[in-house]
Amino acid sequence: MVDLQGQYQNIQNQIDTKLKEVIASAQFINGNEVKMFQQELATYLNVKHVIACANGTDALQIAMMGLGLQVGDEVITVDFTFAATVEVIALLGLTPVLVDVNPDTFNMDVAALQKAITPKTKAIVPVHLFGQCANMEAILKIAKTHNLFVIEDTAQAIGADFIFSDGLRKKAGTMGTIGTTSFFPSKNLGAYGDGGALFTNDDNLAKKLRSIVNHGMSKRYYYDRIGVNSRLDNLQAAVLRIKLPLLDSYAVARQKAAAFYDRAFATCDTITTPKHSDFSTHVFHQYTLKINGINRDAVHAFLNENSIPNAIYYPVPLHQQEAYKHFKFDKDNLSVTKKLCQSVISLPMHTELALDQLEHITKTVLKFIKENE
Ligand SMILES: *Cc1c(COP(=O)(O)O)cnc(C)c1O
Repeated sequence: MVDLQGQYQNIQNQIDTKLKEVIASAQFINGNEVKMFQQELATYLNVKHVIACANGTDALQIAMMGLGLQVGDEVITVDFTFAATVEVIALLGLTPVLVDVNPDTFNMDVAALQKAITPKTKAIVPVHLFGQCANMEAILKIAKTHNLFVIEDTAQAIGADFIFSDGLRKKAGTMGTIGTTSFFPSKNLGAYGDGGALFTNDDNLAKKLRSIVNHGMSKRYYYDRIGVNSRLDNLQAAVLRIKLPLLDSYAVARQKAAAFYDRAFATCDTITTPKHSDFSTHVFHQYTLKINGINRDAVHAFLNENSIPNAIYYPVPLHQQEAYKHFKFDKDNLSVTKKLCQSVISLPMHTELALDQLEHITKTVLKFIKENE
């Protein structure tokens, strides 16, 4: 699905030199690379504060801790996403409320969000799934009306732009109260191990988040609040500093691959290619098709047999997962997610896809479909 070796080979000299330098400095935790990376990412995103942490799941948890959410508070997120989002809500004793997504963009259904708000609702967690922003203009408006926090899960969409109706553009993760992201190796800005970060424009909140990632410490060995140990290490920050200036060119490479797929499947009725929202750019963390009319699992099996990497993101709605079954979800209103889980399939998407690979992938998909339509 990804080609991290190919991507490394293009920056090998820079990476190897830098990593040796960091190791020789023996500054592994809270070093200069982390400080510099936080500043450089803040500049890139045009946000006041970037707080690095150990991974994207921690970032979500730390965001909810920083906002002071209390046991029993309701947090609204989507049924169609990676488990991390709902996991941390449950871990903190908060009540997850899952809403359905738009069948075309795979992102939070704004009408469903509106309906799910109760007097106990404290926060909304839109997920910018597969590389494209949720409808933040509408979500921010609802949040303002009901006085709710917004935590943007930007793990799959770092670098994407949201375009407001007045033309104003903002980076994914910088519009809500807090944005969170992941530097998991296969993410659009991937480290060589785990990593994550939080973004905010709120000075006081930034201070609090910075203390929470480091055991809730204010000054050395004085603890103001309960925190966690969640840090980005200096080696990962060094890798990320080399890759950050390449992020936009990585997005262009992904967009080119997506455009090739779009063209190849344009006339095939069995395949719905990903919708491009007019209010967001798309950085294609995933290229996800919907298969209609024939069995998706048969396509999946055929591609596997023919050694074409492919994946089902996601095969089961969160509300049906064993771990979360005990929460009382509004099952009758999650039918879009249920249907998507049976019809989506993601094709290889990364920065190193060559023309012959794209041709081989699309030909193989279309061959199966022609034979089975
Ligand atoms: C990857 C991902 C996370 C979690 O990030 P980790 O760094 O793996 O903890 C959270 N949310 C979404 C939507 C993700 O894709």
